[in-house]
Amino acid sequence: MSAEQIAPVAKAYEFGALAHEGQTRMSGEPYITHPVAVAQTLANMHLDAQTITAAILHDVIEDTETPVSELEELFGNEVAALVDGVSKLDQMQFTNKAEAQAESFRKMMLAMIEDIRVILVKLADRLHNMRTMESMPREKQARIARETLEIYAPIANRLGINHMKVSLEDLGLRYLYPFRYRVLERALKRSKGSQRQIVKKISEQIYQAMNGDNVSGEVIGREKHLYSIYKKMAEKKRPLNDIVDVYGFRIIVADVDTCYRILGLVHGLFKPMPGRFKDYIAIPRLNGYQSLHTTLFGPKGLPLEVQIRTAEMDRVAEAGVAAHWQYKAEDKSTATPQRRAREWLSHLEEIQQSGSSEEFLESVKVDLFPDKIYVFTPKGEIMPLPKGATTVDFAYAVHTDVGNRCVAAKVDRNLVPLRTQLQNSQTVEIVTARGAKPNPNWVSFVTTAKARSAIRQYMKKMRGSESIDLGKRLLDRSLKDLKSSLRKVGKVRMRAALDELHLEDNLQLFEQVGLGERLAPLTARYLLGVDEDGTPEAEASLIIAGTEGMVVSYARCCCPIPGDDVMGYLSAGRGVVIHRNTCGNLSNFRKQPEKWINVSWQDDVDRDFSSQVQVESINRTGVLAEVAATIADSDSNIEQVSVQDRQDDSTILNFLLQVKDRTHLARIMRNVRNMKNVIRVSRDCA
Ligand code: MN
Repeated sequence: MSAEQIAPVAKAYEFGALAHEGQTRMSGEPYITHPVAVAQTLANMHLDAQTITAAILHDVIEDTETPVSELEELFGNEVAALVDGVSKLDQMQFTNKAEAQAESFRKMMLAMIEDIRVILVKLADRLHNMRTMESMPREKQARIARETLEIYAPIANRLGINHMKVSLEDLGLRYLYPFRYRVLERALKRSKGSQRQIVKKISEQIYQAMNGDNVSGEVIGREKHLYSIYKKMAEKKRPLNDIVDVYGFRIIVADVDTCYRILGLVHGLFKPMPGRFKDYIAIPRLNGYQSLHTTLFGPKGLPLEVQIRTAEMDRVAEAGVAAHWQYKAEDKSTATPQRRAREWLSHLEEIQQSGSSEEFLESVKVDLFPDKIYVFTPKGEIMPLPKGATTVDFAYAVHTDVGNRCVAAKVDRNLVPLRTQLQNSQTVEIVTARGAKPNPNWVSFVTTAKARSAIRQYMKKMRGSESIDLGKRLLDRSLKDLKSSLRKVGKVRMRAALDELHLEDNLQLFEQVGLGERLAPLTARYLLGVDEDGTPEAEASLIIAGTEGMVVSYARCCCPIPGDDVMGYLSAGRGVVIHRNTCGNLSNFRKQPEKWINVSWQDDVDRDFSSQVQVESINRTGVLAEVAATIADSDSNIEQVSVQDRQDDSTILNFLLQVKDRTHLARIMRNVRNMKNVIRVSRDCA
């Protein structure tokens, strides 16, 4: 690194050592040894200065009282964001034992990070923690080891970082199954002495052949890692000897041509085993791995597994996404880290063109550039949802009944509005209530098809039963006008009428009347067989209780409230819309009298209604707040407020308020009118 890159790393060390001053690791060592070891691992991987700096600082937010803002100030936004990202991952613990959940958990971790370097720091952190677990209690060791095997090693594998994957797996096995690990380790050690001799002898033979042919390269006797032996034994149900009595060699050379020359050379030296040659250079493996593989009959028929590849291929095989990093490290033009991850992917894609399955690639892509978020249920289960999903989407994802009855939501134990969009790794709890109903407005913010269709379906069902009630009342009222009633009509006449109208049953008839698709007075006359001219003298009115639900609505143009003189307009498909008698829209009344019905308020309507109030006040700062406070003191909620007109000396404010009735509205208006800066108060905002 250049001097100006080294300076912040040194500064980070000083800062970190001071911040962690007095803290020690389980082993008794000063705490700072841990972040420094993490930084060293990443330095060996040739990661950039910011990553190294962040690695040294990676525990200061979590374990000391350092705020993110301080890191921003001292080390810049990028380093601070990296440390913050690592701290957030630290807060997540994988506790669920179900395997399917491990997959989701890995995805959630990768979905949470905005910068791929965060996960590299986290992997290095985990690696060092695994290496220094000796003095931890047995139970904790096992928990961390399981998490490592289920979550972190597979992530390292996904990202192609082989050396980390191998170390994490071996350490995981060692602490999760200490006994099996020791048995295996001992057995391997026993066979190692004689093995080493054989490996040495064969390596020399290969070197000799290479010298004779004037090609150079490095021959490495390969030891299989313990976990892979363990897994093979378990999967193939074979004894240890069958699996370890195989000798591995890796030959690293300068270029691709030499790979094939060496292949010919070793095939000349030992007889190749038929069907075991693989050309992963021409057809790379899914994760970008390239190499030639062959198995030979060695001395005494011992199988020799040989891998031949270039130094560059070897680097990619070991470092995965990080190799691509080193490769481009000097190139300043490749701006964001996420873009580098994308480049790595497209590099994979390029070498994939030979047509092998793209499954691996797809899974990496989905993990690194997710369109999903992952949240927890209160029981710790992980629920995947599309980006932008709200608490209501979550409720419906849990169960349609939970969605239909949800009244409130808690995110990380805090109550939030239902429309709140969820973020990765939040814990979401839905509060339900018996008898609660979905709100039609939810459709405007839910993002999942399941929630949307469930709400719509519920609405349809509700509207059905509400309109049946209303239709029955409307029809009964019209029959009363004609000195009759539903009971007097009788079953026989009703059945005949239904047949003539091609309706299944009387509920269907009531529903059509309730929705305004069929007019009640006409239907009543039809049922009674009265002719058109028999106009009744005084129409009884429909009594509005305010609890009719969606089939009775209150016009936005005039905002009727209890106490107002009102009329109802039968609107096809929507039921009755209530207007004030003074409303301009009543001129329709003359054009379509059959669609208007008399309505009146029930005496004790108990709910809030929207009402408009216009206030003209002196133009002064704070006047809006004063008026709003007066309204609130008068037991009313403000639904909306807008400033209509602002002149030099006066301002017109339009409020949409919730009121009980005319008396309540009058009290609010009086209180506002009595304020000293208010000039005029009126109902309606024409
Ligand atoms: Mn740490």
